[in-house]
Amino acid sequence: MNTPPVKRIAIYGSTGSIGTQALEVIAAHPDLFSVEVLTCNGNDELLVEQALKFCPNIVVITDDSKYMKVKDALAATDTKVFAGAAALEEVAAMDVYDLMLAAIVGYAGLKPTLAAIRAGKAIALANKETLVVAGDIVMQAALEHRVPVIPVDSEHSAIFQCLVGEARNPIEKVILTASGGPFLGRKTNYLVNVKREHALQHPNWNMGAKISVDSATLMNKGLEMIEAKWLFNLKPEQIQVLIHPQSVVHSMVQFEDGSIKAQMGLPDMKLPIQYALAFPNRVRNAFPRCDFRKFNTLNFDEPDYRTFRNLTLAIDALKKGGNLPCVLNAANEIAVWAFLKNKLGFLEMTDVIEETMQKVPFIERPNIEEYYASDGEARHLAADLIKL
Ligand code: NAD
Ligand code: MG
Repeated sequence: MNTPPVKRIAIYGSTGSIGTQALEVIAAHPDLFSVEVLTCNGNDELLVEQALKFCPNIVVITDDSKYMKVKDALAATDTKVFAGAAALEEVAAMDVYDLMLAAIVGYAGLKPTLAAIRAGKAIALANKETLVVAGDIVMQAALEHRVPVIPVDSEHSAIFQCLVGEARNPIEKVILTASGGPFLGRKTNYLVNVKREHALQHPNWNMGAKISVDSATLMNKGLEMIEAKWLFNLKPEQIQVLIHPQSVVHSMVQFEDGSIKAQMGLPDMKLPIQYALAFPNRVRNAFPRCDFRKFNTLNFDEPDYRTFRNLTLAIDALKKGGNLPCVLNAANEIAVWAFLKNKLGFLEMTDVIEETMQKVPFIERPNIEEYYASDGEARHLAADLIKL
């Protein structure tokens, strides 16, 4: 039997929750994957530790004040060290890897991912904000450069897995499941007092700070609706969200004959990460298995749109399109940052996003420069509203 060639991986955001789990997956399969590029924002110590273990060709640290520290620590190795945001894009275009795992958080992931697509690299996409901000341009570029964009987000991985073998069959609708986050069932009078520590405690998933807050406000599900629209070419009315607190059904696809496929498993991001890295193959692993006898019931409910208004705002942006999802995302990033710094209340995040969406001029078909400008404008407006 022919053994497949080793896939050369670049992990953008290697020190984060997704990045570190991806390295665990890769460490378990050295016959399938090699690590060629690692990048992070500022966690130089973990980056160096990872580089010493995985011997990548290149590391990039965005915070250039840390450059010398990383350079010195890796002086005895063959790893090349780059620093600064521009280096993320330069390295993304280099012929040193085959697939980028896009696991930077937020808008910062957009430019490197676009650079990778334009260089013809396959993308395993965790960074949903890339599609929220400029999904039309990113997916068009992927089409032009014949680049596969394989979702890592568990819901989208589920939908993707349900669609394997269904290329000729149109989707009637997708059902995106949501755990509901740590405040499921809570009302405004409770949420008004919520602080950073509560919001960071997610019942089913252990994730980075930003996405944990987004899960608590349900903004995450709104961003995922927009992500689904671009990944699977859907109309807004084809995307339904259901609260499913057990997080066993990761999402579902309903076809034109009414048949529904679901992808299921325990909530463990290593599975969708491994699937995206190894696609189209499934790879044996030792992850815990799902035992349905431990789940007496699986519940599915309508989200509480009145309490979790971020989801309503995101649906508004999804329906209106143009630069509105980009503005929503930028305002949300600023609001979440301020909330994490205890400078903004939990419910006030929604007010900031709503007001920013009203104030930034609407552009129906933005080009990439206009997306960048809308992002900047929304950030400034949101920061002014919070008086940062
Ligand atoms: P995280 O905060 O744990 O890690 C983020 C990574 O990005 C770190 O390596 C950090 O150094 C890097 N980074 C942050 N800001 C940067 C900047 N300005 N420039 C360059 N690098 C920067 O985040 P995470 O939870 O791993 O999430 C990463 C992405 O994956 C997000 O878009 C998130 O929505 C998505 N995602 C995460 C999960 C999860 O379980 N964590 C699940 C689904 C999707
Ligand atoms: Mg998700």
